[in-house]
Amino acid sequence: MARVNDNYLKLAAGYLFPEISRRMDVFTSANPDADVIKLGIGDVVLPLGDAVRTAMHDAIDEMATADGFRGYGPSEGYDFLREAIAENDFGSRGVKIDPSEIYASDGSKCDSANIQEIFADDCSLAVSDPVYPVYVDTNVMAGRTGQPDEGGRYAGITYLPCTEESGFMPALPEEPVDLVYLCSPNNPTGTVAPKEELAKWVEWARANEAIILFDAAYERFITEDHLPHSIYEIDGARECAIEFRSFSKTAGFTGIRCAYIVIPEELKGRDSNREQVPVSTLWSRRTNTKFNGISYPVQRGAEAIYSAEGAKEVQANIDYYMANATLIKEGLSKAGFTTFGGVNAPYVWLKTPDGQDSWQFFDNLLSQANVVGTPGSGFGACGEGYFRLSAFGIREKVEEAIERIAKGF
Ligand SMILES: *Cc1c(COP(=O)(O)O)cnc(C)c1O
Repeated sequence: MARVNDNYLKLAAGYLFPEISRRMDVFTSANPDADVIKLGIGDVVLPLGDAVRTAMHDAIDEMATADGFRGYGPSEGYDFLREAIAENDFGSRGVKIDPSEIYASDGSKCDSANIQEIFADDCSLAVSDPVYPVYVDTNVMAGRTGQPDEGGRYAGITYLPCTEESGFMPALPEEPVDLVYLCSPNNPTGTVAPKEELAKWVEWARANEAIILFDAAYERFITEDHLPHSIYEIDGARECAIEFRSFSKTAGFTGIRCAYIVIPEELKGRDSNREQVPVSTLWSRRTNTKFNGISYPVQRGAEAIYSAEGAKEVQANIDYYMANATLIKEGLSKAGFTTFGGVNAPYVWLKTPDGQDSWQFFDNLLSQANVVGTPGSGFGACGEGYFRLSAFGIREKVEEAIERIAKGF
């Protein structure tokens, strides 16, 4: 019989979202008439804008003509998309990224999961706690960790606590670390690392020859001008950071699938002879071996968000979600909750009242207010005692949910 990959068996059993669904199912079968409002999973709800739709339609029509038909495209993405990204997402903020340093993909989940493959098996890694579980689980699967302890923390990973006292910013690791995953604006805490904070990380990474894996999936939700949207706004980041960006939350592409990764030319790792190797050559090789690119209509749809009309439509959706975030944050504050985030990110991170643990609060909120959110402890030990509410909802539902919570339960 074929041996399985034992590393998969280390993965802590109850993945967060299935457990949330299970508890919801139990509740709704016992209370079939309850109108349950979901502010849990981070998925967008607003329809695609016209610019994206038209661009995708046109691309399909083009593919149905003899001249316009396209088969396999470049694995890294078409030049038209890479150029639009370089100019609009970076050039417009004074950051120089060459289109050749951009690799389009079908998602940041996949990119942030796959990136570890091009690094050595014995690379050490650090993650913040709470954390987006993909960074951890993919390294567990790859065998870079031992077993989890009772709190779900794996041996071999350096966890960087993000607490209220530190403004939910992770401290620099005290031990040597090769790879560190940072996410800003942060899922789940909704907080954003200011420039000084990122500068500290870049300085540390360069001094320690470490690489920062920077997940900026939520950068479009930043509303305060002084905050950085890209790690490359920090001098020296080109030598020590990879950035992940996604059209998922930005442009409602969670179902369409388009994202990209930036690997600057200057970014180097070392081989076993201690010779320097450009990281991009490995990623490019990986991409060309394991991936055949995303579809042409999707790339045309993604390109369309940079047109004048597309940009307006995307911004309108983001404004809608951020108005939800404000409603949630202000409503909860008025009701006496302590909240974080929700200003530059579509997530509000609240402190559970009366010392309830995250799952107790989940159960109470569900059974008494019929509102579903995400228990902070599902994102890591330091998330215990916290709870995430997502601003990705229909306005009326969000208002209703907050009204119910404010009434007390
Ligand atoms: C939603 C999300 C992404 C985007 O994932 P896609 O695969 O591009 O849909 C990336 N990182 C974080 C932290 C997210 O929450």
